[in-house]
Amino acid sequence: MLLIRCPYCEEERPELEFRHAGEAHIARPTDIASISDEEFEKFFFIRSNPKGIVYERWRHVHGCGRFFNAVRNTVSDKFYMTYKAGEPKPDIDFAAMETGPAASANREPSELNVTSGDGETK
Ligand SMILES: [Zn+2]
Repeated sequence: MLLIRCPYCEEERPELEFRHAGEAHIARPTDIASISDEEFEKFFFIRSNPKGIVYERWRHVHGCGRFFNAVRNTVSDKFYMTYKAGEPKPDIDFAAMETGPAASANREPSELNVTSGDGETK
């Protein structure tokens, strides 16, 4: 089961306690009555939906009930971090956080702490 860390409860909880709430960091226009229909459409309906890293809103519906933001990879479904609503978009070095086989594919053997068949560390 996928575990998600609630930044308010400060603990990892099962995904069943949470609900996805759309893309994060969508700024509401300050004077929404004066914007054009095209601008309103862009604000209200158009979302980026990228493959890979996304910034999303989540809600801890079966816990504290609060909204928070998360950084997630849509390919691996890995949550990189969660942070409280209203906090700025974090600047994350995703390459440094990847530790799986795919992340190791482009590294020199000396960086991987692997051993050769004769037991020597390369
Ligand atoms: Zn919570």
